Amino acid sequence: MTEKQSADILFKPKILVVDDEKVIRNGCREVLTQEGYEAILAENGELGLKMIEKAHYDVILLDLMMPGLSGFEVLSHVKTLHPDTSIIVITGYATIENSIEAMRKGAFDFIPKPFSPDQLRVVVSKAIEHTGALKDIANEKSRIRVLINLIANGVMVTDAEKKLVLANPAFMKIMGFKEDDIIGRPFTELVQQDQLRQMVEHAFSISEGELTELTEELKIEKSGEDTTATYVARCRPFRDRIGRNLGTITVLSDITYLKDINQRQSDFVSMVAHEIRSPLNSVMAQMKVVQDGLAGDITQKQGEILGRASEKINGLVSLSSELLNMASREAGLIALERNECDMGEVLKDQVEFHRPKAQAKGIQLKLEPLPDLPPVLANKQNMEEVFSNLITNAINYTPGKGKISVSARSGKHHLCISISDTGFGIAEEDLDRIFDRFYRVKNDKTRYIIGTGLGLPIVKSIVEAHDGMIQVESKPDHGSTFIVYIPFMTS
Ligand code: ADP
Repeated sequence: MTEKQSADILFKPKILVVDDEKVIRNGCREVLTQEGYEAILAENGELGLKMIEKAHYDVILLDLMMPGLSGFEVLSHVKTLHPDTSIIVITGYATIENSIEAMRKGAFDFIPKPFSPDQLRVVVSKAIEHTGALKDIANEKSRIRVLINLIANGVMVTDAEKKLVLANPAFMKIMGFKEDDIIGRPFTELVQQDQLRQMVEHAFSISEGELTELTEELKIEKSGEDTTATYVARCRPFRDRIGRNLGTITVLSDITYLKDINQRQSDFVSMVAHEIRSPLNSVMAQMKVVQDGLAGDITQKQGEILGRASEKINGLVSLSSELLNMASREAGLIALERNECDMGEVLKDQVEFHRPKAQAKGIQLKLEPLPDLPPVLANKQNMEEVFSNLITNAINYTPGKGKISVSARSGKHHLCISISDTGFGIAEEDLDRIFDRFYRVKNDKTRYIIGTGLGLPIVKSIVEAHDGMIQVESKPDHGSTFIVYIPFMTS
């Protein structure tokens, strides 16, 4: 038995019958008790109201026409006190106008007098179901609110009129909001941070149907402290089912510590790369003097040895340049702007771009027919870098006469793009490590292929910065398949 089923068995709905006719009250009680409900009776509006103020009822059967306080007055009080109570109005005159008016004021249904026990059963059971659904929604809402309040990221939601409808405690703290009455006020009046204000304004100007997430890196002074924190702010408009703008949602994540680590790593890498590059250049220059015979004649054999040595040093020089590039590129990876991106177009361009290199090696590079692909939210340049790296690797690690195929399909939540080759493959013990920085598989086949071991780590960090993931399947001597998953856009 599920938790909900056992809760349903323990739950005995409480029904209040407010009617001035004794026969009706008693008749209702009999039917409702037989059905397993708890029936409570009130003989007039005043008494009914007092009971409603003291307790909560799941359903109220309410006579519209009573002497003293009318059913309509009781109805409006119930709606304010207990919005999740379902009200069924009982009307003696059976005038359709009265019933419609009551429904307009929030009654769930109506039942004209005289009614049969069966009619009563049906309408009450429908009302109880409705109350249950309302309760579920209310529970879900409160669960989501607790969740939003607990998360460490700042969350701000505005409605279509640019008024604040939600700001969680983390957002209030980041912004230094002290007042409690900020809900309902225009966000432009509250948010003093220019960049953030402009970003949210920009999100409002995004036309309906266009899906874009705006990203900015913000520096905000910590309230009461002398330090500033770095945040990445993501903002996007949200829409209803037919694409109309309902407002915006902004999430602020503190990336100060990431920035610090990144900066320190980048400084270190830049320093090392720099320190290596200068002596290497001077070694190269001196070797060239010897190679050119300016320091005395050299034999052909010596020339060949020096030639191979220069090649290796050249490799080291380009590694140090890549390291310098990477240090600056990684620092910019986190907060790049993303737009609606047609991945089919990216793949077509990349395949065309790399085809000459593949042909030169006698490799067939093919883009499989693409199905209709929904757009993804991505940074196009980043995506080009991902697929350029993966196709280049496939070409590098596939011998002549091999085949490379690029394909894409829509999964349930992700776009899945595969790059398959019939190349050297990767041994199982290396599969876990190829995404580590500088890791290169060393065997007889890969030994002479020049590389840095930085391509796949960059691919992985870009894919993960897009909330996606990358997987690899490979069998030595048969080939490898790299699969990239990028989540679909949700509006
Ligand atoms: P690089 O290619 O510069 O060495 P990468 O980070 O791109 O660096 O790749 C790391 C290692 O993973 C490579 O050295 C290679 O051994 C292995 N590898 C990557 N792609 C493939 C592939 N398609 N087939 C076989 N091995 C691959």
